[in-house]
Amino acid sequence: MMIAENIKSVLSQIPNSVKLIAVSKTKPIVDLEEAYAAGQRDFGENKVQELIAKYEYLPKDIRWHFIGHLQTNKVKHIAPFVHLVHSVDSLRLLQEIDKEAKKNNRIVDCLIEFFIAEEDTKFGLNLSEAEEILDEIFKENSAFFLQNVRICGVMGMATFINDVTQIRREFQVLYRIFQTLKAKYFFDRPYFSEISMGMSDDYHLAVEQGSTMIRVGSTIFGRRNKF
Ligand SMILES: *Cc1c(COP(=O)(O)O)cnc(C)c1O
Repeated sequence: MMIAENIKSVLSQIPNSVKLIAVSKTKPIVDLEEAYAAGQRDFGENKVQELIAKYEYLPKDIRWHFIGHLQTNKVKHIAPFVHLVHSVDSLRLLQEIDKEAKKNNRIVDCLIEFFIAEEDTKFGLNLSEAEEILDEIFKENSAFFLQNVRICGVMGMATFINDVTQIRREFQVLYRIFQTLKAKYFFDRPYFSEISMGMSDDYHLAVEQGSTMIRVGSTIFGRRNKF
């Protein structure tokens, strides 16, 4: 019951245009079923094995978001069904997703993850690293042309800190990165439209700074024992 209420509460605090990804990592199936019964269809997981187990067990109209660090050798396990990979941080990973998507006769949507925080525990690229990759992909006769991957936007995590000014600044950085890439590579591609930013403690700020997708775990499902 609490889970349904928590979802309702988060939804009431964000505009309709912002998607809520319920981050269910480490949480048992019953919790996801409760969220599903409340109408939630977008779920986020950060471990491949856990994602597959939940995918196999739960209804097939769930949209599964992969939000963790993805190893290339595990892409094949999620390529048949994953809805959106939020955490792409290399050309090699994009190529692997493209290859596995092709095998499954699908287009897999991806976001490029950016490092916007001050913590070195977090993953992601900076703008020039991303531009290097996109230059490779989009140059004429590129050997890296990706037929089965669609790059739909950007993702980032702010520093785990209480300083509102700093968090806001980090989200602004990601928003500007999005606009820069949109203008340079994706101006004629309307699907490049997603900015995945905002978690339990900072989603209000993220939405204020232009987030289109928030990834909320503990506020919906309660605290986790492990990350
Ligand atoms: C765990 C996680 C979240 C959700 O975190 P909460 O603080 O529990 O809302 C969001 N994004 C990523 C990438 C995560 O790993």
